[in-house]
Amino acid sequence: MNVEALKIEEIVKKVLLEISNKTETVDEQYGIFQDMNEAVEAAWHAQKKLVKFNLETRGKFIEAMRKEARKHVELFAKMAVEESGMGRYEDKVLKNIVAIEKTPGIEDLRSEAYSGDDGLTLIELSPFGVIGAITPTTNPTETVICNAIGMIAAGNTVVFSPHPTAKNTSLKCVEILNRAIIAAGGPSNLLTTVSNPTLEQAEIMMKHKKINMLVATGGPGVVKAVLSSGKKAIGAGAGNPPAVVDDTADIEKAAKDIISGCSFDNNLPCVAEKEVIVLDSVADYLIFNMKKHGAYEIKDIDVLNRLQVLISDEKGNPNRDFVGKNADYILKQIGIDCDPNVKVIIMEVDRSHPFVVGELMMPVLPIVRVKDIDDAIELAVKVEHGFRHTAIIHSKNIDHLTRFAKEIQTTIFVKNGPSYAGIGVGGEGYTTFTIAGPTGEGLTSAKSFARTRRCTLVGGFSIK
Ligand code: NAD
Repeated sequence: MNVEALKIEEIVKKVLLEISNKTETVDEQYGIFQDMNEAVEAAWHAQKKLVKFNLETRGKFIEAMRKEARKHVELFAKMAVEESGMGRYEDKVLKNIVAIEKTPGIEDLRSEAYSGDDGLTLIELSPFGVIGAITPTTNPTETVICNAIGMIAAGNTVVFSPHPTAKNTSLKCVEILNRAIIAAGGPSNLLTTVSNPTLEQAEIMMKHKKINMLVATGGPGVVKAVLSSGKKAIGAGAGNPPAVVDDTADIEKAAKDIISGCSFDNNLPCVAEKEVIVLDSVADYLIFNMKKHGAYEIKDIDVLNRLQVLISDEKGNPNRDFVGKNADYILKQIGIDCDPNVKVIIMEVDRSHPFVVGELMMPVLPIVRVKDIDDAIELAVKVEHGFRHTAIIHSKNIDHLTRFAKEIQTTIFVKNGPSYAGIGVGGEGYTTFTIAGPTGEGLTSAKSFARTRRCTLVGGFSIK
């Protein structure tokens, strides 16, 4: 371990110790309240102050958040791994960096104009007010950073309801971002949360009159909860991304990309490859190359059965104890010692196997052989379950690429790259950690958190 890493280790230990020594982390100055009603009230008052600043100043608050967050990426990554017990430190560092650098700010709020004989009409993007943001355990600080930047850029304040298993990590991130805003001359409590987030506190938040909009990033339960709230809601829900490989693909590259995407943060990202569907004619060569790039193949049916009993139920729901765990750790639990550099466990299975159907969120990647592209697309559409989340294809056949995109209807569609290229890591475009398939905003950014308003000036300002 190098000196830098040791330093971070010490800081994390200190922070976690400080937090555990406090019975409750209440720091109202920096947005952390004991009671959800107080957190909402404080964010409501803060929003009134925020909109009094001009856009340039709002931009400065966002730059201050980015700058301060940059100093803490190692801390965020380390805390998230330690507290949630999931994922890989080095990948979380990268995810945090991407959230900080590539989440759009105020530049995302573009106005539209109509002008003519009757005057000038402007379409402007205005804040909703106070947004209730529910965040996951799989990307705790990344989602807080990304939501904070986009929501504040649009003129809102945010009440966070983080996942209880990443509570301390999420609270620390909220505190650090608030400190940065205050140091830049901004109001306190642009971001608030509670010291002990629970489902009950989330319920209070969702029902609170002063919450104008809800944004849920998580599984189907929380998306359903916000969509049933009667408030304007954005739902960023579960995925089960299939990766299709046809016989025109660059198979060596496809194998490498699939292993990189699937193993990224131990498969926690909702966009990560969750099953491979490959044409029979190239399946053996794909598997051969996947093994070259860090896959461990299970061939023995008894071993596969033992793994299945350990990590999932018959519907493919994961055993939470193994979500985001390293491949070698999972293998060890079924008596297999392997090189710690193994990134992904692969196996050939039947198309209805629970590993194919369910979203496991661990580096376990089932492979299904199919006879042709029609079969591949049909199966991929089926196992994506209509989530409209993410799909990946490796192919050089334009017709196959187009047909698959049309039939699967996912929000993110990656062609010839690892899944994470779809969120701006090695692919063009900005980043988000809130991908709203169910409600259709897609890759959310500041404009997703703004209301469209029309301002019409009659009879003037047209100089055409
Ligand atoms: P989760 O659904 O268990 O929890 C997400 C958040 O919702 C947590 O804060 C949790 O406390 C809260 N929550 C859950 N049920 C709730 C309810 N009924 N009412 C109010 N709040 C509730 O998910 P997780 O394990 O933290 O994250 C993994 C899941 O999230 C996966 O399904 C993954 O695909 C999905 N995800 C989606 C996106 C996206 O952008 N679409 C991003 C990250 C994760």
